[in-house]
Amino acid sequence: MHLDDYIPMVGEAVVEDLKLIAQRLQGKVIRNINSTAVGGGVAEILNRMVPLLKELEIDAHWDVIRGGDKFYAVTKKIHNALHGATQEFTPDDIEAYQETQKSNLEELKSFADVMFIHDPQPAGLIQKKQELGRKWLWRCHIDLSSPQKDVWEFLRPMVEQYDAAVFSSPGFSQKLPIRQVLITPSIDPLSDKNKDLPQEFITSVLERFKIDPEKPLVTQVSRFDYLKDPLGVIEAYRLVKPYFDCQLLLVGGSATDDPEGSEVLQKVKTAAGDDPDIHVLELPPTSHLEINALQRASSVIMQKSLREGFGLTVSEALWKGKPVIAGGVGGIPLQITHKYSGILTHSVEGTAYWLKQLLQSPDFGRRLGENGREHVRENFLLTRHLRDYMLLFLSLDHPDEDVVNL
Ligand code: UDP
Repeated sequence: MHLDDYIPMVGEAVVEDLKLIAQRLQGKVIRNINSTAVGGGVAEILNRMVPLLKELEIDAHWDVIRGGDKFYAVTKKIHNALHGATQEFTPDDIEAYQETQKSNLEELKSFADVMFIHDPQPAGLIQKKQELGRKWLWRCHIDLSSPQKDVWEFLRPMVEQYDAAVFSSPGFSQKLPIRQVLITPSIDPLSDKNKDLPQEFITSVLERFKIDPEKPLVTQVSRFDYLKDPLGVIEAYRLVKPYFDCQLLLVGGSATDDPEGSEVLQKVKTAAGDDPDIHVLELPPTSHLEINALQRASSVIMQKSLREGFGLTVSEALWKGKPVIAGGVGGIPLQITHKYSGILTHSVEGTAYWLKQLLQSPDFGRRLGENGREHVRENFLLTRHLRDYMLLFLSLDHPDEDVVNL
C-alpha cells in the first residue's frame, strides 16, 4: 500500500500536502513506544502509521515495552481509574509500575529525535529525559476528564515532564503546564479491516461462523471489557427480540495488555445462555478481514460503551455505511451527530428503542450510514492523522511559536 493509493478516497491535494510537509522532516528519527503490538486501537493505528511515515522518508520506529502479569494488572487498574472507575491503588502497584519502566529503559538501546510515548503504560520512560534530552511527546488515548485522584496524582508529575501531550478530544484533557494538542485518531480505509470486500468472501465468513445470512445481524466488535458493556448489549437485544427477529453477534478478542478479558468473556457467555441467535466469537487479534466482513454483513452496529477513548470501531462501521448505535461517551460524539450520522444512547432502554427503530426502518439506517461515511472521510481517515502528527513533530522545533511557516 502506498500513499498514492489514498488519492481515490481523499483527493490528490491531500496526498501532495503530506509529501510537502514530510520534506521538512527528512532524516528525523521518531520512536513510538506503546504496550501492545496487537489488540486495541493504538496498535491498530501504529501498524499503518509507521509504514506511511517511512514511505515519506521519515525514520519512524515502533517499540513495545515488556512487562509481566503484575505490571499489566497494575496498568489496567490505572487505565480504569483514569477513566473514572474506582480502583485500589497501592504502594505495591507503584513499585511494580516503576520496576517495569526501569527494566525497559535498560533494554532500550536506541533513542530518537522524538520519543513518542503512547498512553500511561510506558509514560514513566520519561525519567530518561533528563539524561538524554530530545523531544518527548505523550500521546494519551484515554479520557482524563474525571480521573481517580490518587492515580492521576501519580501520573501527573511524569506527564508534566513531556514537551507536549496529545489528546483525542477537547474534553479529555487536564490542566497541565505543558503544551496540549488535539489530534483525533483515524482509520485506514485501505487496511484489511476497512477495505472493500467481495460479497462471496463476506458470505463465506458468515458460513464459517454459522451465522444466518438471512436474519438481520446486530454486531458489537470490542475487547471483552466491562467498559464496553457487552452485557448491556445483550440486555438491549433481549428487549427487542420479541418484536423483531434478529441475531446478535459479540466479537472480541483480548489485547495482550488486558488481563480482565477472560473474566468478562465468561460473564458474556453465561448471559448469552443457550440462545441460538446470540453468537459470541473470540477471534485472534489478526482477524482483520473477518471483522471487516462481519461488520459489512451487519444491519446495525453497536458500540454501547460506558466509557470510551475515541472508539475506533465507530468510525470503522460508519466508513462501511452502517447505522451505528453507540454510547454518547468519550470520543463517540465527535464521530456521531445524533439522528444525523448515527444514534447516541445512554441506557439499555434507549439502546433497545433505537435498535428496534433501525431494524424496522432500513432506509433511515442507510441515511445515517451515508452521512456517517462522509463525516469519516472528512475527519477520521489516516491521511488527516498523518498530517497532524507531522505538523506536531515540526512544531516541536518551534516551541515558542504559535504559527509554524512551512
Ligand atoms: N478489534 C479487533 N478485534 C477484536 C476487538 C477489537 O480487531 O476482537 C479492533 C477494532 O476493530 C478496533 C480496535 O480493535 O480497530 C479497537 O479500538 P477502539 O478504539 O474501538 O477500542 P480500544 O480497544 O482501543 O479501547
